[in-house]
Amino acid sequence: MDRIAVLTSGGDSPGMNAAIRAVARTCVYNGKECIGVMRGYEGLIEGDFTPLNRAAVGGILHRGGTILKTARSERFRTEEGRKIALSKMKDAGIEGLVVIGGDGSFHGAKLLHDLGMPTIGIPGTIDNDVAGTDETIGYDTAVNTALEAVMRLRDTASSHDRLFIVEVMGRNAGFLPLEVAVAAGAEYVVVPELPLSIGNLCQKLRASHENKKSHTLIILAEGVMTANEMKDKLQDTGGYDARVTVLGHIQRGGSPTSFDVVLASRMGAYAAESLMVGKSGLMVGNVNHRMTLSDLERAWSEQKHLSPELLNLVEKLN
Ligand code: ATP
Repeated sequence: MDRIAVLTSGGDSPGMNAAIRAVARTCVYNGKECIGVMRGYEGLIEGDFTPLNRAAVGGILHRGGTILKTARSERFRTEEGRKIALSKMKDAGIEGLVVIGGDGSFHGAKLLHDLGMPTIGIPGTIDNDVAGTDETIGYDTAVNTALEAVMRLRDTASSHDRLFIVEVMGRNAGFLPLEVAVAAGAEYVVVPELPLSIGNLCQKLRASHENKKSHTLIILAEGVMTANEMKDKLQDTGGYDARVTVLGHIQRGGSPTSFDVVLASRMGAYAAESLMVGKSGLMVGNVNHRMTLSDLERAWSEQKHLSPELLNLVEKLN
């Protein structure tokens, strides 16, 4: 295999650039060529390719976002679109592909593998909702970004007898909210995976207020309801002045943490080397601190579970 391509797809996440750099530099190290594909699968269909030599990936290690841009491609969901993509790759002499993205992107990667194009996935999403890896690229940065914002709110909450409801990202999975809740010492966390009793929550809030707890923090995953909806539902909180904060897209941006830079560098190098030794249809994972490969299908067929230990900690330590 002499020429390997790399693309980023789906939502961007901090650390994607470090993964791109690692794929490109591993190619150079092994005497291979690396091609960057612009705007995910859309660029694959359009043949929007750019050579990634050593210098092209210089100075991007700590930059947020992705230099290759990312997109959602409806055309790639069709057989016709995928065939065009494949012929564009063949015309450009591309013999293997690294796909950096979430479970949707891995669906696409698997279809390319089935069409005979060697493909390896790297999990890049701030949601951490991909089975087959302990962490996805961008998750640690997003947790730290959200934590910093929450800690500022905590300071003002304690000065005013306030209840803060902070809505964080997590449409279908509660990994980010749960980690933020433990790290911020939040009193409650509301995640999509667990049923929510508003009555119960109100009762606990009233008890907290009676016990003279000056502030209370609820970390809410956006997938459950909006923070404003929750505020409306929490009718009787026993005297807390409820305030709402929606962290939104700030959680996606920013420079990656050292953890994400190291994880992305390891995953990028491992993905490129795996392609070079003939592996395909697999995703890279970090399991118990070691690089692993597992079937791409795991990303969408297997549910990754929240840590019961962390859930208990929120309950125990509040
Ligand atoms: P994130 O969840 O972080 O946004 P993701 O990779 O899951 O990342 P998606 O929007 O689900 O993001 O997928 C990205 C792209 O992958 C889609 O725009 C589409 O081009 C391709 N894709 C997703 N699912 C499929 C599928 N079933 N078949 C073919 N291509 C797909």
